[in-house]
Order: sequence, then structure tokens, then C-alpha cells
Amino acid sequence: MKIDIITVLPKLLDGPLNDSILLRAQKKGLVTINIHNLRDHSPFKHKSVDDYAFGGGAGMVMMIEPIYNCINELRKDTTYDEIIYMSPDGEMLDQKMANSLSLKGNIIILCGHYKGIDERIREHLITKEISIGNYVLSGGELPAAVLCDSIIRLLPGVLNDEMSALEDSFQDDLIAPPTYTRPAEFNGWKVPDILLSGDQKKIDAWKHEKAVERTVERRPDLLK
Ligand code: SAH
Repeated sequence: MKIDIITVLPKLLDGPLNDSILLRAQKKGLVTINIHNLRDHSPFKHKSVDDYAFGGGAGMVMMIEPIYNCINELRKDTTYDEIIYMSPDGEMLDQKMANSLSLKGNIIILCGHYKGIDERIREHLITKEISIGNYVLSGGELPAAVLCDSIIRLLPGVLNDEMSALEDSFQDDLIAPPTYTRPAEFNGWKVPDILLSGDQKKIDAWKHEKAVERTVERRPDLLK
């Protein structure tokens, strides 16, 4: 899989994408992430990428030309399955969307800034708009990093134990059961006996029961 991210703040993406599981996925060749600095594609003096909004109002708007140039440049060598714009009014990211995007070959992720981007980019170039929640952040970089993490950990071979992504919350409309590790007792706080019993069938049944219990209690909306 190849992910091309377009941003005015490449540094913001460095940390989240180049550490831990996402770094390992890249080193293993399971995903290629390229970060493109939008300013490098600006045809304007001082490499500017934003301008005042028509009709007035506070805040700058990202201009068409740098984004158009950058996307066209990328499309010269690659056919993209999706050109995604991170946006608070987009479709809400959930596990189902992450699963479906993890099956794609090549995607572009465009990070907005300021007041957002010129609407005509959204109308003519963007194929999918994604929000990570009902709140407004100052830029699309953190949302893009969240989206990348949610997708990349699902690629076969990225997680050591491939089953472990399947057992996470939301994969089967259930949230995950509680987890424990050593010591079996701390301060009088005990791990449930069943987990120490060695009876895998009973343990699996217990985990399922707890997952259902938790979902009913915390996220009844998932059971609808
Ligand atoms: N004026 C816009 C917000 C712009 S915030 C509005 O009211 O809808 C600046 C940029 O941050 C956006 O262009 C987008 O790329 C990103 N962003 C902010 N909040 C986001 C969210 N919840 N999900 C995804 N992207 C977000």
C-alpha cells in the first residue's frame, strides 16, 4: 500500500508515523508513506499557499493552485483509489472504514489548515472526506496520522500476532473484554480465576461474555 500525504507542516507527521508499529510496517515494506510539503508546489511568490476568503470573514483559505499542482504531479506516476480530505464535516472514521481503506492500493490524504481549503478542490478532486470526531482541530495532520494508524495496523504482517487486530474493539460490533497480566495478585487485587484455569474453551466463553456485557453497558448503540 502507498499513502501520499499532502501537508504544510510535514514535521507534525514525522513523530507519529516514524515510530513503533508504523515505522516497522514501513521497514518491512508493507506500506510506503510519502510526505509532500504543499509549499514546494506553490507557483506563487514566497511559496504562499493561502489567501483571504472571498466574501470576508476571519481566517485564511488554502488556495487551489498548490493543491492542484501537487495532486497532478502525484497522479503522473500513480493511479489513486481515493483522494481523501481530512475535514470535520466528513464521514466519521470508524473501524469499518479503516477495514475498507486497508484494502486499497494507493491513497492521497490532504491535510487542511486555517479555515480549510477552497471548496472547488473538494468538488472536483477529492473523492472522500473523513472526520475523526465532532470537534475542530487546527490542522489535518493529527487526523491524518490517526487515519494512517487505524489503516496500517490492519495490513497483513504489520502486527506480530495477526489475530490481535481481529480481537480488538469494534471488529465484531463488540468492544474488547478486560485484559490482565502478571502479577496474578497485587495489593489483594486479583485476576479472575478463570483466566488462570488453563481451560481455553471456558476462557474464550468468558471473554465473549465480558465483551457482550461491556458493550451493553458502555456502547449499546453498537448492538443495534
Ligand atoms: N473551518 C472549518 C475547520 C477548519 S480546521 C470548519 O469549521 O469545518 C482546519 C483543518 O483541520 C481542516 O481543513 C481539516 O483538514 C482539519 N481538521 C480539523 N478538525 C478535524 C476533524 N475533526 N477531523 C478531520 N480533520 C479535521
